[in-house]
Amino acid sequence: MIGFFFVSVYKYKSQPAFLLFSLACFSFAAAEVFASIRVYIDFPFVTHYLANIFIILSPLLIIVGLFKYKNTQNISLMPLYCIFGFSAFLLLAIYPFDAAKMLTSLIIAGLFIYSGYLIKSMSFVAKIQQKALTTCFLVHSGVMLLQVAVLSIPVISSNVVDITAPLQIILISHLILATLSALILPFLLFSNTEYTLSNLANTDSLSQLLNRRGFFNKAKESLNQLSNKDKSVSIIILDIDFFKRVNDEYGHDTGDQAIKWIAQNIKEQFINTGISARIGGEEFAILLPDYSLSAARESAEYLRENISKQPFYYKGAHINLSVSAGVSTALNGQMSIKDLLSLADKRLYLAKETGRDKVVTFDEKQLLLQS
Ligand code: GH3
Ligand code: MG
Ligand code: MG
Repeated sequence: MIGFFFVSVYKYKSQPAFLLFSLACFSFAAAEVFASIRVYIDFPFVTHYLANIFIILSPLLIIVGLFKYKNTQNISLMPLYCIFGFSAFLLLAIYPFDAAKMLTSLIIAGLFIYSGYLIKSMSFVAKIQQKALTTCFLVHSGVMLLQVAVLSIPVISSNVVDITAPLQIILISHLILATLSALILPFLLFSNTEYTLSNLANTDSLSQLLNRRGFFNKAKESLNQLSNKDKSVSIIILDIDFFKRVNDEYGHDTGDQAIKWIAQNIKEQFINTGISARIGGEEFAILLPDYSLSAARESAEYLRENISKQPFYYKGAHINLSVSAGVSTALNGQMSIKDLLSLADKRLYLAKETGRDKVVTFDEKQLLLQS
């Protein structure tokens, strides 16, 4: 059933890794069927030789699938083909004997150790499941080695020993561990896909900052973590001054590079302290959890000054850019992010109206009171 599940995923995503995983499941099932019919028919080539071949093929296909999933072009699959060819050849000579079972178990144990190593070395978002799958592979290889030890008891012992019961327990563990691994594997792969998609949906491709949607998601997440209601939260909104002129004079491409350059300045300053986003064409927002109005103003002033004092260079042109900013602050939970943003936006408008290249932290009413 898991094999069919992988086939349908392959049809949907056209990723060869999923086809290989489904083949690994079918190979495992085929091996179990061939091995179990040995009670009914006396045809060791099928019930012993083919059963062994298919059971070795299953982890090999998983490993090849993992390589395909990792997209590692420069890794040669030749050692894997050699292991398979060597096993198939050797087993052909010894398949009716117990030694064949021992050899098969040893090869599978080695392949499981390697699969565990591969899973551990890959990068997955679901860390607990990654550990669980690595453990499954390692325990599974232990079970296979135990099988070798149990099979060797009658060979070493001078008495007649019945090993049926321990072998049955090993078989059950083998089935449980294989099923468990086949269930965890798709979970691991899908959690990575889910993470990549959500990153794409929340990131602005030009600046590599968060986009508007990502800003709201991250901001909400971060304010929920800032449980203390006594802490203030600030937002800075930034808009590039006279940006239309940059596009008109130097072209849209230069305009794009200027946006990237401003984003880079924001990133460098706020990487550890704030959540930065490009929320519009040449408009940026920075959420500063646990920042008072004066601390946020200071940061915004620093950024504004930094941008206006260094020219932006692109294709031989020196362009002097400046930004205007509006800053708003509230106690955590007192105002929604949307309201904080619109308050900061009003102040940004005031900065534009009163000359640009400045930071405004108060409202028009306060401005009137001041004058
Ligand atoms: P102000 O000082 O009032 O902000 O003047 P401004 O010229 O910057 O005016 P405004 O903010 O209204 O103009 C934004 C311009 O930014 C308009 C649009 O052509 C340009 N723009 C928006 N997004 C992009 C983008 O992704 N790339 C480029 N190159 N230009 C963009
Ligand atoms: Mg502008
Ligand atoms: Mg604008």
